[in-house]
Amino acid sequence: MADESEIKEIYENGMKILEDLTNNADELQEQILEEILTRNAGTEYLSRFFPNGQADKQSFKTNVPIVTYEDIKPYIDRIANGEISSILFPDPITQFIRSSGTSGRQPKLIPMTAESFEKRKYHLLLSDIVVKKCFSGLDEGKLLLLHFIKPEMGTPSGLVASPYTTFFSKTNTFKNSLAKSSTSPIDTILCLENKQSMYCQLLSGLLQRDKIIVIGSSFASVLARSIKFLEDYWKEFCSNIRTGYLSDWITDHGCRNAMSSILTGPNPELADLIQQICQDISWEGIIKKLWPKIKYIHGIITGSMSQYVSLLEFYGGGIPLVSRSYNSSECSFGINLNPLSKPFDVSYTFLPHTAYFEFLPVNNDGGGKSREFELHGASATESSGIKNETMAVNELVDLMNVKLGQYYEVVVTTSAGLYRYRVGDVLKVTGFYNKSPQFQFVERQNVVLSIGAEKTTEEDLSKAITNAKLILEPFGIMLTAYSSYSDTSSTPGRYVLFWELKMKGSNDLPKLDARVMEQCCCIVEESFDFTYKSFRKDGAISALELRVVKHGSFDELMDFYTSKGASISQYKPPCCLKSEEAIKILNSGMVGKFFSPKTVC
Ligand code: AMP
Repeated sequence: MADESEIKEIYENGMKILEDLTNNADELQEQILEEILTRNAGTEYLSRFFPNGQADKQSFKTNVPIVTYEDIKPYIDRIANGEISSILFPDPITQFIRSSGTSGRQPKLIPMTAESFEKRKYHLLLSDIVVKKCFSGLDEGKLLLLHFIKPEMGTPSGLVASPYTTFFSKTNTFKNSLAKSSTSPIDTILCLENKQSMYCQLLSGLLQRDKIIVIGSSFASVLARSIKFLEDYWKEFCSNIRTGYLSDWITDHGCRNAMSSILTGPNPELADLIQQICQDISWEGIIKKLWPKIKYIHGIITGSMSQYVSLLEFYGGGIPLVSRSYNSSECSFGINLNPLSKPFDVSYTFLPHTAYFEFLPVNNDGGGKSREFELHGASATESSGIKNETMAVNELVDLMNVKLGQYYEVVVTTSAGLYRYRVGDVLKVTGFYNKSPQFQFVERQNVVLSIGAEKTTEEDLSKAITNAKLILEPFGIMLTAYSSYSDTSSTPGRYVLFWELKMKGSNDLPKLDARVMEQCCCIVEESFDFTYKSFRKDGAISALELRVVKHGSFDELMDFYTSKGASISQYKPPCCLKSEEAIKILNSGMVGKFFSPKTVC
């Protein structure tokens, strides 16, 4: 597939390929499992589950346990430490992909093989085809795609570990395709200092504003951060453009070199124009004003990213937000076949050739509540040392058998050594395209607020906050980011929310009317489930606390997580904070706090 003629063929036949894949979902799923078992059954990990040497689907279904990352970490650590025997899979691995670890879990190391990379590239091409079918003229302009990299980590085995976006930005595939149509010179993307990289990428985008037809990043959080950066630096951008001189603090050699071929001389007309646009009190529609030929905004806006939808709609001024695909460090899952669907209606059609998918039904008691599985010892796996065997094996449903409207946690088996692996994402079936199911992303499993027996999930919180923020709209106040934690430092404990607010017309902190803010607390509590409300009424949970933080506090939170190893490009704002340090960062930006009135409203 790396071959150019093959890529051309995929583009030409793209829609037919998609039709074939989705029409043959059942056969393809059978086939992929068979291939994985034929190739990998002899590995140390899998072989113990096939004591008779019979590695067929039935034995797989009966014997192979459902696992989490923690269960397979010892095997992965051995590979990272240089053991070369066939531990999880027979193929050599090319490197490890390091997950972001920002959505509630620790960063993970996921093995990557040449084959798994090919599958990802194929996935990318297919989602590209769908978007190109939807928007004409995409080959005629340039993309301002904000990409950032992290330093690679070495492992004792000599293999490199890096976030997928970092890995991808260094491949020839990227250099020969996306990088060529991007306004950001490759050296500005490969700069390890994220602030210098962001400055140069945005400056390049402003200098080539007439050519840009798409602006975006992998996740909406990065885009929101970039627009804020623009708000903070637009005067400096204008000054650089006016004088033709790049700011001295850009010291990275690659960036300076690359920018010298774009920032070639003074351009006072362009500087005046950008200044005129940016000095407008309201930044509503700023993206459209700065980049007049823009066709769509690209970036994942589902799941925890949905908190950025209203901000990006505001800045975009009516430009469609396109959430193209659903991927993780582990594998690619599905693509959005309706790029123009509204952010909250986005569903991803699973592509059956990327991995073998199974689904664990999740209790849906009103809002897609994640379920915690009870653990039961089971014979076939006791000797494997995997304690996490669960009765849920019998409940797993194949891709073809998921039911419309039902919630599931996705479980994958990949050719690169993950077998019945819980990804940790909860999805809801919203429809079918041919025979392939379509899923809405609901939430990360286990991202919950909880004081007692009640559990408030990421989805519950998002819905409650969406309800509450409506009452801020008439005051011209926007919620630009939120997070939360369960505060059990006193008894009874309480939920604490952090909100970053801004006025629609400026970055000024809105004047906070205590009554309105208390009402927000109230609406959030009202939106929670029966168990929360009854605990609140009984006094087992204290009044919800809302802490408003100053502009830029959530940028500091992102800086904190990226300093700990997360990549900006893969950053997902944690909806529920577990880290004391992260809580401290948001607390230090606090400018007001409000409590829900004593009883639930
Ligand atoms: P990482 O492995 O760090 O790239 O993170 C992967 C995780 O990001 C997934 O398991 C999801 O929780 C989340 N994610 C990826 N794509 C999407 C999407 N389209 N919508 C919502 N969440 C997503």
